[in-house]
Amino acid sequence: MSNNKFKVLIVEDEANICSFIETLLTTNDYQALVAHTCTMGLTLFASHNPDLVILDLGLPDRDGLELIRTVRQKYMTPIIVLSARTDEMDKIEALDLGANDYITKPFGTGELLARVRAALRLNRYGAPLGGAAPNGEFCAQGLRINYDRRKVFVEGEEVKLTQTEYNIVAFLSQHAGRVMTYAAIVKAIWGDTDIGSTKKLQVNMANIRKKLGSRPGSNSYILNELGVGYRMLDEDSGPRSEGLE
Ligand code: CA
Repeated sequence: MSNNKFKVLIVEDEANICSFIETLLTTNDYQALVAHTCTMGLTLFASHNPDLVILDLGLPDRDGLELIRTVRQKYMTPIIVLSARTDEMDKIEALDLGANDYITKPFGTGELLARVRAALRLNRYGAPLGGAAPNGEFCAQGLRINYDRRKVFVEGEEVKLTQTEYNIVAFLSQHAGRVMTYAAIVKAIWGDTDIGSTKKLQVNMANIRKKLGSRPGSNSYILNELGVGYRMLDEDSGPRSEGLE
């Protein structure tokens, strides 16, 4: 039933990337709409009310950031930004404007699909993820957080965290699968926007990562998105892949 499919608007001027994403989405049972300019993207957004936007920032007519700004005036539709590897400032600006996530070019199919599902709050089988867990727990990749008791377990073993460390882990888990900028985490934990707090965050995070350890033969539970922020792996995160597959 085509009207049950999630509608994804792709705003990207590079034809090969565009058709790569379009093919990937349609073969995975999404409906794809394509715009090659910012203006066309806004027009299609208004006429089709998509469930998700995948947005390139470098567009021929206007900056993709303008699309985020315009959409966010009225809509909470998830937006994933496509960005070149080195543009940390662009990523941060996009996230601060209200983009939900970014993905760095070049990217693999698995990575893109995982981000799409995370943005739509779907699990790997396409079923909706529960919001707040009914039993007050977060569980992913061997990491378990009991929110009621404020306790964290790795592979069943309790990990002793300080209050601040716990608050950071709990906050990231509530946004699992998505990158949180340093500024967003600092604001949530310390309630300020002081740039000096980023240092506090980094110190706490180093301790957290040490205490949580890594899954054997795999990456740690919290990924450091260099220059941007941190991302907690969700139940759906596979190993990170590099390059177009
Ligand atoms: Ca471009």
